[in-house]
Amino acid sequence: MVTVRKLLVVVGAVLLAGCQAAPAPPPPSTPAPGAVPPEPSASAPPSSTRAAPRGVVVVLDPGHNGGNARDRAAINRPVPAGRGRTKPCNTTGTATNAGYTEHAFTFDVARRVGQALSTHGIQVVYTRDTDDGVGPCVDRRAAIGNSAGAAAVVSIHADGSNAASATGFHVAYSAPPLNPAQGEPSTRLANTLRDGMRSAGFTPSNYIGSGGLSPRDDLAGLNLSERPAALVECGNMRNATEAAAMSTSDGRQRYADAIAAGIERYLAR
Ligand code: ZN
Repeated sequence: MVTVRKLLVVVGAVLLAGCQAAPAPPPPSTPAPGAVPPEPSASAPPSSTRAAPRGVVVVLDPGHNGGNARDRAAINRPVPAGRGRTKPCNTTGTATNAGYTEHAFTFDVARRVGQALSTHGIQVVYTRDTDDGVGPCVDRRAAIGNSAGAAAVVSIHADGSNAASATGFHVAYSAPPLNPAQGEPSTRLANTLRDGMRSAGFTPSNYIGSGGLSPRDDLAGLNLSERPAALVECGNMRNATEAAAMSTSDGRQRYADAIAAGIERYLAR
């Protein structure tokens, strides 16, 4: 019993750490991890409205990782966060009150988004290939997007506000921009992601940002990106309604379809 209680205390403390980490970067001389080859030509985009240019690379960044809690030293190591600041390498993320973790949610949703994009001929690179590892650090996740020459980099997270009334999604982007990619391209990507989420029936956040958009200067993955980048906070895992949706495969597919639609809307222009 004592052991179980201690374990629960540790897990609780870890989960309360919340969702703060954005992604980062990459091995310069090796192929980006998780590259998924585009579908063969037989699977050309089924409709002109979803067509994306051939050979386009999209980097998907599932927030956090399942092993982060077991290596606090590595996860707390300060890394560059842009704008002259540092941040911890990564965080553990949040969870629903029932214990469904953000890292599991983001990993599953990212895979579903990637599957949808691959079907339409888009090459997908992930910042992590498993859900039981440690990291990568936020600066390394950003570097993965940069070295891949990504047309779009999309980080996927879910929030953990303790206010039960806090609900809805928001899309963060770097502001003020630190390079041209963080200007109009990233702002437009954030807008198409917001539109994709809203079109799918998801409600913009009632506690962060405005109209589902949140300009930020403190997210390392966005600050360090040299490619168009945005971060989707799909909803509040502490809200009962959103937690229920996130905890089912059907619900996660809805989030994934909305994000994929937003990415493809961005690429189609
Ligand atoms: Zn997060």
